[in-house]
Amino acid sequence: MSESSIVVIGAGLSGLHAAWRLQAAGRAVLLLEARERAGGRILSLPGAEAATHQLDLGPSWYWPELNPLLSAWVQRLGLSSYPQHSEGAGLFEGPDGSLRRLGQSWEQAPRSMRIAGGMAALVAGMQALLSDVDYRPGTVVEGLQLRPEGGVELLLRQGERRDVQPAAGVISTLPPRLLAELPAQPAWPPEQMQAWRRTPTWMAGQAKFVAVYERAFWREAGLSGAAMSQRGPMAEIHDASSASGEAAALFGFVGLPAAHRQSMGAEALRQQALAQLVRLFGPQAGRPLRIALQDWASEPYTAHALDHAPLGHHPSYAPGRVPADWQGRLWLAGTEFAPQSGGYLEGALEAAEAAQAAAQQA
Ligand SMILES: Cc1cc2nc3c(=O)[nH]c(=O)nc-3n(C[C@H](O)[C@H](O)[C@H](O)COP(=O)(O)OP(=O)(O)OC[C@H]3O[C@@H](n4cnc5c(N)ncnc54)[C@H](O)[C@@H]3O)c2cc1C
Repeated sequence: MSESSIVVIGAGLSGLHAAWRLQAAGRAVLLLEARERAGGRILSLPGAEAATHQLDLGPSWYWPELNPLLSAWVQRLGLSSYPQHSEGAGLFEGPDGSLRRLGQSWEQAPRSMRIAGGMAALVAGMQALLSDVDYRPGTVVEGLQLRPEGGVELLLRQGERRDVQPAAGVISTLPPRLLAELPAQPAWPPEQMQAWRRTPTWMAGQAKFVAVYERAFWREAGLSGAAMSQRGPMAEIHDASSASGEAAALFGFVGLPAAHRQSMGAEALRQQALAQLVRLFGPQAGRPLRIALQDWASEPYTAHALDHAPLGHHPSYAPGRVPADWQGRLWLAGTEFAPQSGGYLEGALEAAEAAQAAAQQA
């Protein structure tokens, strides 16, 4: 990779989109990813053995009416999507464990759509198009410095190996709180670091639990699979099955704060989540083919310690200000820097478009 290349930090949705656009514009691109896998907060696991259906442990939904950039990717990759299953009765569990069956489920408006094969199908499809991009997984960016002769130097770590990578410029897709911790020379101005630290990483304090079953037995009992609970540990539960319902699964957002989850331990949490599904959906729920718990708060390449505090509402996000010394060398992408749809998948794409357009002009 030459010094004239643009480096994109992070191969989440924002980084993949920025890299794809830079490639299309004929730029040399180096895409660096700390984890061994692409996708960032997008993570899907295979469901039952040999099934093509994947279970989303990060995002599962998009909204075509509100998400034009994401919808364009679904079309470009020839992916199919299907509405979140919500036919049938919903359940409400009170703090004392009392159970109420509601006439119908909660209808989301506009309707939430899932991608067949899971959100990972989007990541795999995008990656397959990056034929001219130099993609390096397992590469942690540990620092950035401006070069006196122009351009930027990135300090990299791959396992025990350390390297210095020169580049013309850098698009960062790191959540603002992780960017604030990245050593920079010249250093980030203190007021800028404070602003980044005040910007929560969307959903980084959350955990998701999924359980895979042989059949969607709740549907046979007239239930949608949706439930709200004031008892927990899951606060909100939904059907996570494939479009046909043949690959059956339920998932829930864990309502307990990150510190509570950490102190009780993953195994106890898994058992309590399963016990809750039995309370809600009956004994068959206690015989899953597999279960999985993903705690995003314990992922160092997603969550900052500040993200462990529960968020009461969706924060307001806005494009990031690049410190004066770094203008023309650094551009900020990632969903937390989106102009409109900050926090969402669509925001990751919006922010990548803006950063790539600005980098292209430099
Ligand atoms: C549980 C959960 C449910 C969600 N549900 C939805 C939903 O239904 N719909 C929706 O629209 N959105 C949802 N979201 C939000 C959505 O996942 C994000 O908006 C989107 O994935 C963010 O993409 P990104 O590329 O901006 O950031 P990320 O995916 O966080 O990507 C950043 C990348 O940078 C890498 N990285 C970090 N530090 C370094 C470093 N030092 N060096 C190199 N690489 C580094 C990370 O490993 C990561 O790959 C959900 C998120 C979670 C966690």
